[in-house]
This record gives sequence, C-alpha cells and structure tokens, in this order.
Amino acid sequence: MADAATGAFTPTLRLGVTGLSRAGKTIFITALVHNLLTGGRMPGFTPLAEGRFIGARLAEYPDATIPRFTYEQHLDALTGKHPAWPEGTRRISQLRIVLKFQSRNWYSSLRGPSTLNLDIVDYPGEWLLDLPLLGLSFAEWSAEALERARRPGSGKEATPFLDQLAAIDPLAEANDPDAERLATAFTDYLRRSREHGALSTLPPGRFLLPGDLEGSPALTFAPLPAPSHTPRSTSLYAMLEHRFEAYKAQVVRPFFRDHFARLDRQIVLVDTLRALNAGPAAVADLETALTSVLSCFRQGETNPLLRPFARRIDRILFAATKADHVHHTSHDRLQAILNRLVSNATKRARFAGTDTRSMALAGIRATHEGSISEGGQTLNAIVGTPIEGEKLDGMTYDGKTEIALFPGDLPERPDSLFEDGNPVALNFLRFTPPQELDRNASGDVVLPHIRFDRALDYLVGDWLA
Ligand code: GDP
Repeated sequence: MADAATGAFTPTLRLGVTGLSRAGKTIFITALVHNLLTGGRMPGFTPLAEGRFIGARLAEYPDATIPRFTYEQHLDALTGKHPAWPEGTRRISQLRIVLKFQSRNWYSSLRGPSTLNLDIVDYPGEWLLDLPLLGLSFAEWSAEALERARRPGSGKEATPFLDQLAAIDPLAEANDPDAERLATAFTDYLRRSREHGALSTLPPGRFLLPGDLEGSPALTFAPLPAPSHTPRSTSLYAMLEHRFEAYKAQVVRPFFRDHFARLDRQIVLVDTLRALNAGPAAVADLETALTSVLSCFRQGETNPLLRPFARRIDRILFAATKADHVHHTSHDRLQAILNRLVSNATKRARFAGTDTRSMALAGIRATHEGSISEGGQTLNAIVGTPIEGEKLDGMTYDGKTEIALFPGDLPERPDSLFEDGNPVALNFLRFTPPQELDRNASGDVVLPHIRFDRALDYLVGDWLA
C-alpha cells in the first residue's frame, strides 16, 4: 500500500490469531497491541532489544465491513479500578497496527525509518474446524456425525438428539418446526459434549459460535440417516441437504476465501493445562483437535476449489497459554508437552513445508511466584487471587484473598504422559487479572507476561529486520 505522505510502499503482514473458545485469544491480542503501542517489557523481541523499534500506532482497518477488535474496551476492563477479564472472542474481528522501525539492512536504512502494517485477524478456532466440511456432501457429513453421536462415549450428551431423530421421518414433507427442533437438539448435543470434557469440537463451528448468524436458516439443519430411496425435492431430507450446502457456500467458503486464505502467519492458542488437568482422554482429544487444525492449514493446497485463493502461511506458532498457572520450573515442560502433541499431529496430518513451533506463554501474567512449606518440604508455589466462586479442597474463594498455591509439577519427560497415560495431578484455579500494575516512564501501564516477547519475535520479528 502506498503511503499518501511519502509515496513509499508499506508492506502488510496478516497475522491470524485463533484457538478454541476461552483459549486466550482476546488476552493475547490485547497484550500484543498494548506491548507494541507502549514498547512494553520485551527483551526477547529482537527489534526492541536491538534499539531499532521506533514505535507503533493504531490505524483504520482497510475493510470497513469487518468488526474492529475492541482493544480499548478490553484494556479498560483489565486495567480499570476493578480489573476483570474481558469477554472473549465470539466472532471474527480485525485491527491494524502500523509499526515503525529502523531496518538492519544498510540500503533500506538510508531512506530513513521503515513501516509495516500488522493486520491482526482474530477468529474462533471453531470456525476453522469447519473447513473440512467443504470436501463433504450432506450424506457423507451426516454419516460421520451420526457415527460419532452413536459412539458409546457420547451417550449422555447425544441421547436427546438421537431421540428426536428417531421420531421424525426424513422422507416426509419438509416443515420448519421439525427442522428447527432437530437443529436445536443437535446444537445442544454439540454444546454439551464441548462442556463435558471434550476439548476438541465438532463441526459446524457456527452452531457453537454463530457470530452474526444467530437464528438464521443457514444454521437450521442437522445430520440425517441415509434415505432408503431418492428423496423428493419437497422432503425434509432435501430441505436439510439444501441448507447444509448453503452453509458451505455462503458461510464456510467466504470465510476461507476472504479471511483465512489471506493470512501470512498464524498463532494457534491452546489451553494445554486445562487438557492436562482433565486427564488422558482430554489430552488425546486435544491431539485429535490439533491434527484437524493442521489439516485445515493444508486445505488451501489440497482442495482444488480453494487453491486459487490460498496464500501460503509460512509460520505457525502453537502456544500453550496461561503458563502463569504453573511455576516457571514447569514452563519448559509445558512447552515440551505441547511440542510433542503438535509433532504427533503433524505426522498424522502429513503436514510439511511450513515452519511450526511450540511455546508456553502467558499473555498477561496473573500470578507471581513464592514457596510454601509442607511437612518440612519447601514447595514451589504461585501466588495470586482466585476468582470469586473458585473452589479447591473444600474451600470457596471470595475473589479478594491472595493465596499461595502449589500448582503441581509437570512431568520432566513428555513421553511419560503418552507411555502410561499418567494423569498429571494439578491444582488448577482461575485467578483474577493482576490487581496492581507498574507504569513505565511515560505513565503507561506495563502488562506482565511470560515469554510473550519470544512469541512476538517468532511471528513478526523477521519482518522488522
Ligand atoms: P478467547 O475466548 O480465546 O478470546 O479467550 P480469552 O482471551 O477471553 O481468555 C479466556 C479466559 O482465560 C480469560 O477470561 C482468563 O480467565 C483466562 N486467560 C487468558 N489468558 C490468560 C493468561 O495469560 N493468564 C491467565 N492467568 N489467565 C488467562
């Protein structure tokens, strides 16, 4: 894009930020923008460490039809009188931040400072996992979805939907109330299986996070068993098949074409600690979800319908978020566990050609470290204020009291998790955001983080070289 004042060309880096609901996207982006705008404490961010980072400012996003990431609102919530976590991502949003820096390149630096438009695209991971639908017919998707719903493990969550399904005749004349009842029961099943432990998610993603499509007919379908003979065009089967195709054509494909396929870099945030805390089944589930995510990143190459649109993502960072829930002695271990999950998933998705990396980080650190003595032993502890209503060992916290907690240790060798399916005993509580924050010389709030600067360096640093 040509700069009106200087006529110079400003390159644009489009960074996608995704992860399933509550993985930490909103917090990560708020920290990213604030740290860049205020030159936060980021020794691991090379352009800043080398004294070449000059500054950043927010700019108008070129596409006025896409909601803006409400950075100011989120920062206010976090740094106001009563700091609270802001509401998480519910739909796609974007923000442009213009970075000014001195290039390392002798020739470029002769022309004075350089600029880069960093476009941040925040979108629900649930939507990403819809991409495989593009390659499936209604009959194929229905067969897969019903097989999953009928698996013994899905019993409790899926029963009300399967009961509804048994009560209707897909070959009968279509009517909206039947379609709505089925779609509602199917959505409830997806929601419940997500809440009751399953970390991965079942498409269609908009059933869980509808964005602006809440209540629209595009979301009023459900899988149906294969009919015994060709359904009439006025049957319920034909109606739902038509809606499924409309969902693909009008929801999934435009999302891919207009947003996803234009990304240059991607960070996938993963609440790895939550999975570890929930046990081996959740860890296995997480690995399946990571495999699906990686296959989505291959869709642009492998799906002939999409190939013309796809730009190549050259780096993907997988980040285990909320690392401040464990002591720093476990940060490398957390990173190693995620790395192990990602490399297994990489093999399963036969994914190659893009640089991937795993890190453990906290966009905003809500705890500090201390120690506690127990039975003559000194244990590494984290210190923070549990959110009101959090419970552990028969205690319910009031949201005001700071405590020291032994969070548990992660295994030294990630392999041990996979060899014997050992559960990791973690003490896991959600903490309030930091209640008192330092300020820098310009009076800006400084947000504490863990390894956030290294993540930023991997994602953006080389574009500022
Ligand atoms: P999103 O749904 O992916 O946008 O998730 P959010 O960014 O809203 O994060 C969900 C919740 O996770 C927040 O409300 C916080 O409670 C917690 N969280 C996110 N990032 C951090 C972090 O760096 N440290 C801590 N302690 N909690 C975090």
